Amino acid sequence: MDTTIKQLKQPGYEQLISFENAKLRLKGLIAVHSTKLGPSMGGVRMRPYQNEDEALTDVLKLSRAMTYKAAAADLPLGGGKCVLFGDPHKDKSPALFNELGKVIDSLKGAYLAAEDSGTAIEDMKAIRKTTKSVTGTNREGDPSPVTALGVFQGIATLLEVLFDMRRLEGIKVAIQGVGNVGYPLAERLFKVGAELIVCDPNEKNLERVKKNLKATAVDPKDIFKQEVDVFAPCAYGGALNKETINQLNCKIVAGAANNQFDDEEKDPTQLHEKGIWHAPDYVNNAGGIINLYCEHTNQIHTLMPRMAIIPKRLREILPVAQEKNIAPFYVANELVEKTLQN
Ligand code: NAD
Repeated sequence: MDTTIKQLKQPGYEQLISFENAKLRLKGLIAVHSTKLGPSMGGVRMRPYQNEDEALTDVLKLSRAMTYKAAAADLPLGGGKCVLFGDPHKDKSPALFNELGKVIDSLKGAYLAAEDSGTAIEDMKAIRKTTKSVTGTNREGDPSPVTALGVFQGIATLLEVLFDMRRLEGIKVAIQGVGNVGYPLAERLFKVGAELIVCDPNEKNLERVKKNLKATAVDPKDIFKQEVDVFAPCAYGGALNKETINQLNCKIVAGAANNQFDDEEKDPTQLHEKGIWHAPDYVNNAGGIINLYCEHTNQIHTLMPRMAIIPKRLREILPVAQEKNIAPFYVANELVEKTLQN
């Protein structure tokens, strides 16, 4: 292998490696946050990162979030992530992913690769040529509708547990981003009679939801201030920050986006003190990883029973958050940290 691999040290992480092969335009990082509950699973993300720090922050934050997500979903998996420097439209090649497979293989099963933004099923197939440590290569479908189902279940659970609302008919929901997850979520909500307010800079996605689901479109900057029952962030990470939380006018926030809080130390409390309940993102959006696990282990028949963990976890978390009067995000973290310590 002509690729240079360096072992780096990162407190709190089991492994962190950097690798580079200039000839193949392969350059990236793999972080293994934890393998306490099983091999660390996480996506391979390719992005034109501006600098090393940006890529490092991403790989550390995302691999840790995967540990929490898998543990909260009761899966025998840990958290890992791979980030690649590059433009997915220009820099991808089968040779690059074959070589990445060798890098992944050198971790001896500690990291299980999966698809993420900037990579696709054919890239996972190219990785598979040189390592078995990759998931989603024989996938029949997209996990996004399963993620949307979990988010839908999460919304229903929060409204029932916290507001005794047992029917979703007539509720108002603002969805930020109607892509692979946001659209099937909107479909489910439309079918039960919810009123939808949406935003998306992608005109095609916006037209589809307006035409098929009678949704009202607003400018992306106006989505936060809509007077609704539910705000569902389904676009990108960091949507909840000091300014956007200030604008919110809803009962609950429950969406699919990963790492919804810009500042996890302060933002959950600001949201909670405003009287808005939040479905912790990694609990609510676990449908995708549950789906991936079932496919990888040839247990797709267990998918629906396993999805029941999402409402179950929320029913454990919410009463504790009510009793302690703290943000559900912190209760979820405590629960996972206890599991990881045992
Ligand atoms: P996607 O790219 O298919 O959809 C995202 C949508 O958000 C796109 O239509 C995009 O145009 C839109 N968008 C971008 N900027 C926006 C803005 N400022 N305002 C409103 N909309 C904006 O991605 P996805 O697969 O639907 O994932 C959505 C989120 O859920 C991501 O944060 C992803 O990490 C997370 N997530 C996805 C899955 C899954 O199964 N796909 C699983 C877990 C978490």
